[in-house]
Amino acid sequence: MKKDNSFSERNFSERIVAWYDVHGRKTLPWQINKTPYRVWISEIMLQQTQVATVIPYYEKFMASFPSIADLANASEDDVLHHWTGLGYYARARNLHKAAKAVYEQHNGKFPETLDEVIALSGIGRSTAGAILSLALGQHHSILDGNVKRVLARHGAIAGWPGQKAVEQQLWTLTDSLTPKNDVRKFNQAMMDIGSAVCTRSKPRCDECPVAIDCKAQLAGKQTEFPGKKPKKAIPTKSAWMLVVKQSGQVILNKRPPAGIWGGLWCFPQFETEAELDEHILSEFTDKKIVHSKAEWLAGFRHTFSHFHLDIQPILIDIESTQDLAEFESCVMEQNQTLWYNIHHPAKVGLAAATERILSHLVALSAADPI
Ligand code: SF4
Repeated sequence: MKKDNSFSERNFSERIVAWYDVHGRKTLPWQINKTPYRVWISEIMLQQTQVATVIPYYEKFMASFPSIADLANASEDDVLHHWTGLGYYARARNLHKAAKAVYEQHNGKFPETLDEVIALSGIGRSTAGAILSLALGQHHSILDGNVKRVLARHGAIAGWPGQKAVEQQLWTLTDSLTPKNDVRKFNQAMMDIGSAVCTRSKPRCDECPVAIDCKAQLAGKQTEFPGKKPKKAIPTKSAWMLVVKQSGQVILNKRPPAGIWGGLWCFPQFETEAELDEHILSEFTDKKIVHSKAEWLAGFRHTFSHFHLDIQPILIDIESTQDLAEFESCVMEQNQTLWYNIHHPAKVGLAAATERILSHLVALSAADPI
């Protein structure tokens, strides 16, 4: 009897690989000249960030740090500078730390066993599996957010994947479905299908190679899987940020390495308006300063995973011939202060709130050139 090659008669992985041969992405920058290092950088950037956003960041990053040695020997400021705008800066700090570890402990060669890779900062089991399978063709399963969604829907796995038991169920499933052969294609295809076909809100089931036996699709309940994270109200905090500007330069302070925006450059920050007022009174009523004026800029909210931060920036525009280099913030580490030229930016990592305020200042100065 003639073999019927319809999707319904092939097993799950065969259908996924056949889909990849026709539709899979094969020419992304990290898919050319694949090495564990290049795939590693892409996998970290792609966590929480869309492919289209990642591409220019990736290309610039690889141009500046073409090898593990280049990354290991770079300054943290330079690495964070390349990450500015991508968010989730712990990813960049971990990359830098891991590159140093590879350089020092593995003679600069990216390790090739799953356990050694997982031991590096910022690399979990799924990312390690992706690096080793995509770059070296090793047989490892993966379970990133996109793969979780495809599998949870296909198997109608109930519950939020953040729960250990649900995650374990999904790992068992991905382990059982990942083929020995074509692991590169299979893993890449699962990620591609998750991001382009089995999308969060409007999955394109008519384009999906596993639609025919997808339990969620058959029940018309695609968007019920995977289960949602239980909602928890997060608190709201307030912060006042002081923007001291002089001749197109503003004062930034480097945050301590731990905590929010760790290692990034921020405007001096105060927890209460009273603290801010006190600081302004003590620093800016000095007779040495010829002229100063304070102006409230538009406030905005920045949301972290565990709280909202309502930020109120205040601009003090100083026209002075005095040297203000001795200015020190009351909340930041000493000797971590920078006069940042808004028209000729220094190569440092900026917190999201800093970037937002700087964009506002650039727009203001375009309207009213300094
Ligand atoms: S059939 Fe639809 S819901 Fe099921 S895996 Fe494919 S795209 Fe996702």
